[in-house]
Amino acid sequence: MARVNNFSAGPAVLPEPVLAQVRDELLDWHGCGMSVMEMSHRGKEFMAIQAEAEADLRALMGIPANYKVLFLQGGASLQFSMLPLNLLPVGGKADYVLTGSWAKKAAAEAKRYGTVNIAASSAETNFNRIPVQSELKLDPAAAYVHVTGNNTIFGTEYHYTPDTGSVPLVSDASSHILSRPVDVSRYGLIYAGAQKNVGPAGLTLVIVRDDLIGHCRDGAPTMLDYAIHAENDSAYNTPPTFAIYVSGLVFKHLLAQGGLPAVERANVEKADLLYGLLDRSGFYNCPTEPASRSRMNVPFTLANAELDAPFLAEAKQAGLVQLKGHRSVGGMRASLYNAMPLAGVQALVDFMIDFERRHG
Ligand code: PMP
Repeated sequence: MARVNNFSAGPAVLPEPVLAQVRDELLDWHGCGMSVMEMSHRGKEFMAIQAEAEADLRALMGIPANYKVLFLQGGASLQFSMLPLNLLPVGGKADYVLTGSWAKKAAAEAKRYGTVNIAASSAETNFNRIPVQSELKLDPAAAYVHVTGNNTIFGTEYHYTPDTGSVPLVSDASSHILSRPVDVSRYGLIYAGAQKNVGPAGLTLVIVRDDLIGHCRDGAPTMLDYAIHAENDSAYNTPPTFAIYVSGLVFKHLLAQGGLPAVERANVEKADLLYGLLDRSGFYNCPTEPASRSRMNVPFTLANAELDAPFLAEAKQAGLVQLKGHRSVGGMRASLYNAMPLAGVQALVDFMIDFERRHG
């Protein structure tokens, strides 16, 4: 078996011990004679799996008791609609900070339901930075403030928690959830598609403060009402059972590593290794402002775009895959999620130094 170093932005690398455990338990989960995929979502086995996953996520993130954890479907993209449908009253307004393609999509969706105020934007510099607190033109009458905690495509990340006063702060944490400790009490709602740092695609996590539940608009689909999912422990309909199970194993794996402070230390080390090379080199260039750089997604370009194809081909030969950058930025992107080991980043850096020596 030859596992590659997978730098995909998502779906992305998962921890190998978790995959091995899934393999070992695949046909017969804990002696019950069936796979988790084959279980009733209302049976005691699966209900215990889900309850344990929730308890472990609460422990990992320190989620306060007055927040609900919802295991939903529809991806982060459905949250772009579900959020305004639940938090934005008819005729209401919301603040959005534009820091990239996903933030723009979130804001465009909210516009269908109310007034969207762009509190700040880094569009002028092709989204290479995160606006600082003093740039945020926040409306005290907004129903909420939406930020994209980590910008998967442009490779930027909030390294501060915006102060929004009494207005609930909402973060799309899809591409950095569980990568660093977070003070959940500073947020009204956090949502994330699972397929980057959590588990398989098909699961969406929503962590929402109690008082923000129960205000869904009349006429909205039942399935898009947070209250319905909260009242039914995320089993109003069939939840993505297998994805919840695998994600639960990832939570246990992260707890065993020492929890999010330990995960953060490892992520800082990995990111520093790659950014260090990018900053030293005259051959590679990183478009993002240093203070805004993402630890999870690292975009970079080569001195000469004609070398992109050979770079990707040779990298693949070396077992380094999924490095092609997003079409809106070009060049390369290395995603360094939790499950990417330091040795994988070291292998990438060694390859890049060698490539520069041969082509630079
Ligand atoms: N937000 C961010 C920050 C993302 O990176 C992505 C997916 N790449 C999305 C939203 C969309 O997520 P999904 O595909 O789960 O709808």
